[in-house]
Amino acid sequence: MKVWSIPLRTRFRGITHREGVLIRGDAGWAEWSPFLEYGPEVAEPWLRCAEESANEAMPEPLRDQVPVNVTVPATTPERAHEIVTHGGCRTAKVKVAETGQTIDDDIARLEAVRDAIGPGGLIRIDANGGWSVEEAVAAIRVLERAAGGLEYVEQPTASVEDLALVRRAVDVPIAADESIRRAADPYRVRDLEAADIAVLKVQPLGGVRACLRIAEDIGLPVVVSSAIETSVGIATGLALAAALPELPHACGLATVQMLTDDVVAQPLLPVDGMLPVGRPVVLAEAFDRVQATPDRIAHWLARRADVDAWRHGVRQDPRP
Ligand SMILES: [Mg+2]
Repeated sequence: MKVWSIPLRTRFRGITHREGVLIRGDAGWAEWSPFLEYGPEVAEPWLRCAEESANEAMPEPLRDQVPVNVTVPATTPERAHEIVTHGGCRTAKVKVAETGQTIDDDIARLEAVRDAIGPGGLIRIDANGGWSVEEAVAAIRVLERAAGGLEYVEQPTASVEDLALVRRAVDVPIAADESIRRAADPYRVRDLEAADIAVLKVQPLGGVRACLRIAEDIGLPVVVSSAIETSVGIATGLALAAALPELPHACGLATVQMLTDDVVAQPLLPVDGMLPVGRPVVLAEAFDRVQATPDRIAHWLARRADVDAWRHGVRQDPRP
């Protein structure tokens, strides 16, 4: 078990460093990196994902490359234009509904992104649950025009019930992201007919095979997304994307550039909007650069012990 800590280029979810663990099994290295605030019950499926990836061969890939989107934060139109131009992707995901900004900021950003990506590119927006139902319905109509068409809107509202209301009021497809954090959530999204697309992340949902089962059960197109991982974690997401029978949308797996360092020989940065499928080569010298301090290593060992204790407790529960 190797504990790493890598600074983020910009603050995300209120954190400046991403931390996690690399675990080695018979099949290779795998990543366990639940966010720090998660207790053992939430962190357990993340560990199941790492154990699967470390110990088992990945399902047979149906493709050897996966299309990915470039992500545009809630920045100025000039910066947005630059990010899309240099991103080299045919799909851009643009953050909207940022606290402290107005719809005019979103309009200007989307116009710049359309100019940069050209008429053939796809633009999706992500509100991270920042709108009410009424705000979402009004904003989506305006932003669809500004963008010259939207592929879909990700998480326009916070609750899954509200997603369903927005979905019934607009023509643009709706994707559920934050509404899917636990294995039961995708079924709720399906049952409430709250989304057209499910954003799935391998770690929180318990691994590649668990996600393949969910995708088959819910019958919605899937966009595989990252939890801001090193290239080792991203490769597990790519294994899922490679094994899905259908992959109609670009995935949200081009995120290693959000970290200032990585643990592999060839970081998973997109080339012509694509990422390669396969296990990356982990570098011993990279560990030395990103190794966490002794107190953080102790923290992660304790977390691991907590998950094991939680699993043990669950197994010992008296069953009716
Ligand atoms: Mg999102």
